[in-house]
Amino acid sequence: MAKKTSEKGPSSDAQHKNNGQSATTTHAATARDLNLALLKRLTETPGTSGREEQVRELVISELQPLVDELSVDALGNVIAVKHGSGKIKVMLAAHMDEIGFLVKHVDDKGYLRVQPVGGHDPSVLVAQRVLVHTEEHGALRGVLTPARKPIHLQKDKVEGPPTLNDLFVDLGLTAEQVKAQVEIGDFVTMDRTLEVVGDCVISKALDDRTGLFVMIETMRRLHETNATIYAVATVQEEVGLRGATTAAYAIDPDVTIALDTTLAVELPGTGDHEAVTHMGSGVAIKVMDGGHIAHPKLVRHLRDIARREAIPYQMEVLPGGSTDAAAIQKARGGVISATLSLPSRYVHTVNEMVHMGDIEADINLLLAYLAEVHPSDYQL
Ligand SMILES: [Zn+2]
Repeated sequence: MAKKTSEKGPSSDAQHKNNGQSATTTHAATARDLNLALLKRLTETPGTSGREEQVRELVISELQPLVDELSVDALGNVIAVKHGSGKIKVMLAAHMDEIGFLVKHVDDKGYLRVQPVGGHDPSVLVAQRVLVHTEEHGALRGVLTPARKPIHLQKDKVEGPPTLNDLFVDLGLTAEQVKAQVEIGDFVTMDRTLEVVGDCVISKALDDRTGLFVMIETMRRLHETNATIYAVATVQEEVGLRGATTAAYAIDPDVTIALDTTLAVELPGTGDHEAVTHMGSGVAIKVMDGGHIAHPKLVRHLRDIARREAIPYQMEVLPGGSTDAAAIQKARGGVISATLSLPSRYVHTVNEMVHMGDIEADINLLLAYLAEVHPSDYQL
């Protein structure tokens, strides 16, 4: 990736051509700079919506030493509080749940039928490996695939694209063994490890374990702030922003920043106007998405800090999809809200890809913001 020249380089038109993207690109940070061991544990720990218990345990063990108070509410949100000198309440939100499945039926051959949890694209779920998380027999590895004949037997008529209903799981066990170990309602996650490719990481569940990572690493580097920070690891975001809704009601924050991934649609044949964001071009400051319009003054404040601190950033408008900010914004009398996004290719697949420089930029911008947050600036 060629290093784009700084402000003084090509005329500002080049900058404008980049629709609000900073001149510098983010190939500074690499595996060495990031606490990759933690990111790997976060992404590889299983937890679908409503079954975030193992992720919660990990998040609590990481956040507890960094804050003054920590509690878990009725839905399972982790609310970690770092007191500040002033009265301002800032809520950070990153969700613990990943998309996955629940076992809904065990057939007489011992195959499992599954119920999708969260938004899945069936065309990327062919011939995958999964883990079925049982109550008493640990995680059982199996094959997830649509019920269709092998290509050798599909005479002249090739079957159409698979649907989610076609999917089943084969654990390689006898029907008796399956019935003895698996129960209706057991949750199922994709079976993939986090790997480093170039300056990027690939894995399942980067949405939104990278958001949790940014929140934890920011709290680790955070010193004194005038704001009291509520670092909230939310539940059930993928099925309707449920945890953020109740946590925001309980906290009643002045300002909120959601931390999540977003689309970087940089496929062969797609035009720049379809990209939404560019991986490796910095943290994305979201203006709007399918469920939320960010507070314009807060957006501008974040952008100005990024410019002042030369933190690589880009502005983002996402046609569809949303984050916890959409729910928090509407809590009680309304909350000043924004989202910082990590550009990700192949979202909601087992090969989500995020640039490590963008993760570093996200942490640096959030840190710089928390050092100077003051809601009085946002009066509309
Ligand atoms: Zn997400």
